[in-house]
Amino acid sequence: MRVLLVEDNQAICEMIADHLRERGFAVDAVGSGEQALSAARVARIDAAVLDLGLPDTDGMRLLASLRDHQPDLPAIIVTARDGVDDRLRGLNSGADDYIVKPFNLLELEARLRAVLRRAGSRRETRYSLGGITFDTVTRQASALGKPLDLTRREAALLEELMRVPGQVITKDRLEDRLYALEDAGSANALEAAVSRLRRKLSGAQARLAIETKWGIGYRLVESGDT
Ligand code: CA
Repeated sequence: MRVLLVEDNQAICEMIADHLRERGFAVDAVGSGEQALSAARVARIDAAVLDLGLPDTDGMRLLASLRDHQPDLPAIIVTARDGVDDRLRGLNSGADDYIVKPFNLLELEARLRAVLRRAGSRRETRYSLGGITFDTVTRQASALGKPLDLTRREAALLEELMRVPGQVITKDRLEDRLYALEDAGSANALEAAVSRLRRKLSGAQARLAIETKWGIGYRLVESGDT
């Protein structure tokens, strides 16, 4: 899941970004509306977390501009203002949720996941295939009932592949979903993550294989009892 975080207070921005990254999100963290719009042009984002008071705009106006490009973009407004008027204005402006500073990072994360779930009712919370189960809420994978130890990036990769079993996902798309802008440049990171995940899946005797489609991308297939 790729999240655009727009917050001009650098300390708060880093704190939120670090937390979400630890929990498996790819985060593009920026400090202004202009930077947010250019980040959103580069890659499709799954959700936005927007501070209300930004140096060059406000979170609600920014949300409207972001939705010009991506009408269904799920969004949470974060703000220090806590008047009922502001809260109503936030929700009426189309934000899916509204959270007031100071807030607990786990609460923000939970609300973000709720907003993402509501946005994609086709998006399952649990995938199961070839003996592997992945829970998108706890981020835990298990193989034949036993927990599978994955890094957050391997878990994110497995989630993307399990969402569309049998379909080829292009490398560009996977990189978009897994790596935020500041991680770009690690050219072989995706290949490396794929081979680590392959090793772990076969080590766990999963009947799942990640096929490489040369020059295109990858797809997840259920393998026979060979
Ligand atoms: Ca601010």
